[in-house]
Amino acid sequence: MRCKYCNSERIVKKGFNSKGKQRYLCKTCSRTFVKEAERNYYPHNYKELAIRMFCEGMTMSAIYHKFFSLLDMITHPLDGCYKK
Ligand SMILES: [Zn+2]
Repeated sequence: MRCKYCNSERIVKKGFNSKGKQRYLCKTCSRTFVKEAERNYYPHNYKELAIRMFCEGMTMSAIYHKFFSLLDMITHPLDGCYKK
């Protein structure tokens, strides 16, 4: 179990969210999050989406802001961007 934001392992339980799911607090970055294991995750689609957003002129920081939890999967969007 790691923090989805900073990848730290210093996680403690922190009550439940509005849907009754276990919430965790990261002691490194002080953010709270819910474990995402039950959710269907499609990193490749996210990466493709990020690449497309980049190709369409969205800035890297805007993309990172949108996909901050998947940061490490989006290494070099430019590599996948077909040049105009
Ligand atoms: Zn953290």
